Amino acid sequence: MKKAIANKMQNIADYFATKEQSEQMQQTVASYIDFLSCCKTERETIAYLIEHLEKHRQTSSKDTIFYKQWREKSLFIAKKGKRPLSEGLHLIASHADSPRLDWKQNPFIENDSLLQVKTHYYGGIRKYQWLSRPMALHGVAVKENGEQVRLCIGEKDMDPVFTISDLLPHLAQKEAGKTLQTAFEGEKLNIIFGHAPDIKNKEEEHPIKRAVLRLLKEYYGLEAEDFYSAEIQMVPAGRARYVGLDRKLIGGYGQDDKICVFTSFKAFLESAEEPEYTSCLIFWDKEEIGSNGSTGAQSRFMEYCIQEIAEQWEPEAKVRDIFLNTKALSADVSAPIEPDWEELHDANNAAYMGCGPVFCKFTGSRGKYDANDAHPEYIAWLRHVLNSQQIPWQMAELGKVDCGGGGTVALYLAAYGMDTIDLGPAIMSMHSPFELSSVYDIYTTKEAYRAFLNAK
Ligand code: MN
Ligand code: MN
Repeated sequence: MKKAIANKMQNIADYFATKEQSEQMQQTVASYIDFLSCCKTERETIAYLIEHLEKHRQTSSKDTIFYKQWREKSLFIAKKGKRPLSEGLHLIASHADSPRLDWKQNPFIENDSLLQVKTHYYGGIRKYQWLSRPMALHGVAVKENGEQVRLCIGEKDMDPVFTISDLLPHLAQKEAGKTLQTAFEGEKLNIIFGHAPDIKNKEEEHPIKRAVLRLLKEYYGLEAEDFYSAEIQMVPAGRARYVGLDRKLIGGYGQDDKICVFTSFKAFLESAEEPEYTSCLIFWDKEEIGSNGSTGAQSRFMEYCIQEIAEQWEPEAKVRDIFLNTKALSADVSAPIEPDWEELHDANNAAYMGCGPVFCKFTGSRGKYDANDAHPEYIAWLRHVLNSQQIPWQMAELGKVDCGGGGTVALYLAAYGMDTIDLGPAIMSMHSPFELSSVYDIYTTKEAYRAFLNAK
């Protein structure tokens, strides 16, 4: 480890040196593991947040919290501050959707004594990572009469799981010569779903499909046509776990961006009951596929919510003043330099695991295309907010120039004129079924968001 990084790690160790700080960190991480284990889809995440927000409201002395959800996939929360709304908000935006495999609407195919489910991947995945591993089924199906059936199979110990079969090495000779891009085909991401034939009506076609449809009817009251009006998502099965002998890393699915959902929400609950500026959180959906749709960051949902708080709390406020004076954090994850891929990063401008939340002045790719490039005046103000409370932070780019790149919701916030920058922890194996985060980053990110919400 280079001296500069060793020093950074030492600073972090010092930050957690007191018993109180280290105990608080352990508690935060334990509740994060539970959150991550039970919130694998955007709907599950939004339901969790509303449930915990309601509990919080019951315990607080004043009721100054507004919230509104949309389609069970997006949520806006606000806490009234001391200053007028026209002086702006302190807003943190994150996204609750993560890459996964969605069921096709006509899902079942039966071949070679097996029933499979066809999928269409959602978000950017490296397809080979999703093969030969236990998967769980999460989602909703809506019947013609409007009844919603919630599904979650594969998370309890006694539940069955599902999987995609991979080719054995013995027959992979031709396959091995292909490039990564051509070797794994989207149409081959088919989930093994059933095996037993229907013993009634032996002459009819598709005996396994008929038997499985009978089970779906018996267990969940679902008919084949109900899958046309369903959103079913295959995600890695099982709980998030500690990683490493010293238990200072967390492995689990969906940390992009549920690590920011969790830390910003916790920061909001822990922040002042009456902050200086009105505090807002927005949780969006569809970030992984371009922030489109009625629940994504390009929708009008946040704008309508801000109009609504203005109407309720300060009808004379001009909504354009609220937007123009707002300070925002695009809370999303960054990618750290890591030992096996150092060549893809500029070590002087890279994020390091465990060294605090990462500011990313601009995302995008190539010549900063599709980026919000944060204003230096705003970065200076944020430095002061974090430094004055000794909260560690880093400034980094996602990889070397021209190695790739990525986007966040920052540019959609900036479109309103608000000051915006990306700030979130670095995670390893991003978009894989088992992403890694550092416990140090979980806690310091939460503290950074809290300082931002409380800032004067
Ligand atoms: Mn993200
Ligand atoms: Mn992502």
